[in-house]
Amino acid sequence: MTSPRKIAVIGGGITGLAAAYELTRKAQAAKTKIEIEIFEKAANPGGKIITRKEGPYLIEGGPDCFIIEKPWALQLVKELGLEDDLLNTSSRTSGTFVYDNSSLHRLPEGVMMMIPTKPLPFLASKLISWPGKIRMACDILIPKRKESGDETLASFVKRRLGKEALDKLAEPLVGGIHAGNPENMSLLSTFPRFLEMEQDGGGLIVGMLKRQKKMAAMMKNRPAPRGPKRTFFISMNDGLGQIINRLEEVIGKDSLRTEREITQIRPALKKGWLIEDKTGRTTPAAAVIITTETYNAARLLRLELPRLADLLDEIPYVSSATVSLAFPRKAIPHPLDAYGFIVPKIANRRIMAVTWSSVKWDHRAPEDMVLLRAFVGGAHHPELVASGDQEMLAMVREELSAIMNISSPPQQSWIYRWPQGMPQYIMGHLEHLAAIDKITDSHKGLYLAGAGYRGIGIPDCINQGRQAAVKAWASLKL
Ligand SMILES: Cc1cc2nc3c(=O)[nH]c(=O)nc-3n(C[C@H](O)[C@H](O)[C@H](O)COP(=O)(O)OP(=O)(O)OC[C@H]3O[C@@H](n4cnc5c(N)ncnc54)[C@H](O)[C@@H]3O)c2cc1C
Repeated sequence: MTSPRKIAVIGGGITGLAAAYELTRKAQAAKTKIEIEIFEKAANPGGKIITRKEGPYLIEGGPDCFIIEKPWALQLVKELGLEDDLLNTSSRTSGTFVYDNSSLHRLPEGVMMMIPTKPLPFLASKLISWPGKIRMACDILIPKRKESGDETLASFVKRRLGKEALDKLAEPLVGGIHAGNPENMSLLSTFPRFLEMEQDGGGLIVGMLKRQKKMAAMMKNRPAPRGPKRTFFISMNDGLGQIINRLEEVIGKDSLRTEREITQIRPALKKGWLIEDKTGRTTPAAAVIITTETYNAARLLRLELPRLADLLDEIPYVSSATVSLAFPRKAIPHPLDAYGFIVPKIANRRIMAVTWSSVKWDHRAPEDMVLLRAFVGGAHHPELVASGDQEMLAMVREELSAIMNISSPPQQSWIYRWPQGMPQYIMGHLEHLAAIDKITDSHKGLYLAGAGYRGIGIPDCINQGRQAAVKAWASLKL
């Protein structure tokens, strides 16, 4: 029999844990008991969030920070009582370099995402050619597009700022967030704010300046926020794994079933759902929240809901890997006066970006050592993720030698592969989601949430998990 008070969560990544946390809170607030079971196929929860402490080093295998502009991660951290452990980006330096023409160029001060907001540093920079700069400035004069609706990131940027801005700024900076290809990325699903700026503000430059002015006015009228000032990107003193550990504590370890791979989900005879694992064990539940990658959700639902499974399978993913390396400071000739660098596709190299992790975050390596983290793969070079450890390490070392002139071997290295780990919101993504919603809405007690749907960043995943939990809770009708 299906327990009327059990909710199953499939996947113990941040989305699944956020869903389980919200359910725990709701049950506590209602002073009632419900059963929550989280099924996770791996040995540990966290999904893409993996923090490893090894000797004096703190390594992040997947994400290393979240943005505060979208409030849901910061809010969760506060609710979990971890506010004192929030870690700002280091104040010792700032900024990013862009690799172009065989050298590293500082991203001009005032360039927000890809939009220049301060004329002098932008004009002084050698990153963009003079014709390229003039073309970008034309954004002020170009009328807004008449048609509304979606457009690829590439088409939009070429139209407003020109090809050079696409190749050197938008592709590595904006497309890089999804490890994606701007030629097929849906702007409406990834950065709708850019389209809004065009429609409301008469272009990106004017739109961004207006936005900054509005923000400044808002801050002026608001009472000064209590507590320390936060940087745009933020992490935790003990890495993002700290959030996972705390969530596990609050939800209760008893609710978490690790090493339990679910293979099928089907409607129960009368009502509710039956969740079957790899060993054939079946668990009944009144509602189920699936937070796995969409292609894994498709596998679970294929037998009973084939049309939904097809739609889920159609959301593409790309593979990537992170390679962290520890070098003695003296082995690196570069002054390391930024948080790292990005590599545009046109530079024809085999890495997408490098974060100078121990420069960006304090206390991640001893003072005389430097921790770097290279990103490999993505939409442009997915095949590199399949290479063996030695091969991948040798490749990253060659790239660091060519770009940063580092010739010594690292003292230690750590590789994390994320095969099919980054969902891609390509053109038509929103229509796709609408078709998925139409099917799930007609199946009571079935909810989908996570990176594959409405935002890949940690704040969006948390928000989606909690929203799915609110709906699942309401469906119990306690
Ligand atoms: C290299 C990298 C760097 C990133 N950097 C950032 C960053 O700095 N900031 C940021 O905000 N975002 C970043 N992201 C994105 C962000 O980390 C992810 O989108 C987010 O963590 C996904 O969370 P999720 O819970 O939706 O999915 P996941 O973390 O993928 O969790 C899904 C879980 O489901 C489990 N699962 C799958 N199938 C089954 C099954 N059949 N049965 C049981 N369990 C199953 C999986 O094992 C996994 O644990 C990065 C992503 C990557 C890959």
